[in-house]
Amino acid sequence: MTYVAAPTRYETMPYRRCGRNGLRLPALSLGLWHNFGHDRGIEVQSDIILRAFDLGVTHFDLANNYGPPPGSAEENFGRVMARDLRAYRDEIVVSTKAGFLMWPGPYGEWGSRKYLLASLDQSLERMGLEYVDVFYHHRPDPDTPLEESMGALDTAVRQGKALYAGVSNYSPEQTRQAAAILRDLGTPMLIHQPSYSMFNRWVEDGLLDVLDEVGAGSIAYSPLSQGLLTDRYLNGVPEGSRAAGSSPFLTAEGITEEVLRRVRALNAVAERRGQSLAQMALAWVLRGERVTSAVIGASSVPQLEDSVAAVGNLEFDADELAEIDGYARV
Ligand code: NDP
Repeated sequence: MTYVAAPTRYETMPYRRCGRNGLRLPALSLGLWHNFGHDRGIEVQSDIILRAFDLGVTHFDLANNYGPPPGSAEENFGRVMARDLRAYRDEIVVSTKAGFLMWPGPYGEWGSRKYLLASLDQSLERMGLEYVDVFYHHRPDPDTPLEESMGALDTAVRQGKALYAGVSNYSPEQTRQAAAILRDLGTPMLIHQPSYSMFNRWVEDGLLDVLDEVGAGSIAYSPLSQGLLTDRYLNGVPEGSRAAGSSPFLTAEGITEEVLRRVRALNAVAERRGQSLAQMALAWVLRGERVTSAVIGASSVPQLEDSVAAVGNLEFDADELAEIDGYARV
C-alpha cells in the first residue's frame, strides 16, 4: 500500500533551532545505530521509521558503519526512503557520519580528506540519495590536522553532497577550534553530537558553553543510556534486548543491583510525574533549551511512541531535579 504521511504530523512535536543556524530539528530524532541492520526485518524497520515521521520526527540519524553489517542501516533506510518517503524528502533531515572503521587499509577510518569524502560518496550510494542534510566527522582524529578534516566537510557542502557540517565526540577545545576553522571556510558548524543522559553529564563541563559561544546546536545521543533509563531492565534482562545481545557497550554484567536500585528510584520519580522512565529521561535531556534534540533508538513501534510522548511534559521543578540528581549523578 502506498504510504501517505499523517496530516497531523506537525501538531505536537516541538522544533528547535540548531544554535544560531537556520535549521530546526525535532526535539526527538530517530537514530539507526541499532535495530536497522540486516539482522532485523525490513518491515519492522519501516514501521518504526514511518511511525516516527507521522509523529513529527523529521530527522533520521545514520552513520557509514551502522548495521550490522556496517553500511546495512544506510541501505535499509534507503529502501524505506525510496519506497515510502521519496515524496517527503524536503520534509526530512538525514544525517550521516564518517570516522570509525569502515573498510580495510589506511583510508578506511579516522579523519583524512581521502577517507571522509570517499565515505560520504559511499553513504549516498547506499541510501540512494543525492545529498545528506548533515555530514559529521564522527570522532576526533589525533593524527590528522583539524584543518584537513574540516576542509573535507566544507568540500562536501560545496559539492552539494551535504547541506551542513557537524562534529561528534569532540572535546570542548577541539569543538572551539573546529568551529573557528569551519567559520573561516564559510561553512559554519551546524551541530555537535555528544553522548548525554542523566547518567552521563560530561557535556555540562564546558561543551554546552562552547556551543553557545560558537552558535552551534547539540543533539544528544544515547539519552536513554542505551535502554537503562527505561523500564526495559527493571525485572531482569529480557531476551532480544540490547544487553542480551553482543553489544560491548551495554552488557548484562553491567546492569548491577546498584544500577538497578538507582533506575528503580528514578522510575518512582517518573511515575509521580505521570511519565514513563524513558519519557522522564528524555524530558530531562531536553529541559531548558540548551540541547536542540535528543536522538533516540527504538526496537519497536510501541517504544518509539512511548518515547516521543515525552514532549508532553518537558518541565521539572527544582525538587524533582534535586531528587533525580540524588539517584542519577554517578
Ligand atoms: P537510547 O539511549 O535511546 O537507547 C535506545 C534503546 O533503548 C532501544 O534500542 C531500546 O532497547 C530501548 N528503548 C528505547 N525506547 C524505549 C522505551 N520507550 N521503553 C523501553 N525501552 C526503550 O539510544 P541509542 O544508544 O540507541 O542511540 C541513539 C542514536 O544515537 C543512535 O541510533 C545513533 O543515531 C546515535 N549515536 C551516536 C553515537 C556517536 O558516536 N555519534 C554513538 C551512539 C549512538 P532494546 O533495543 O533493548 O529494545
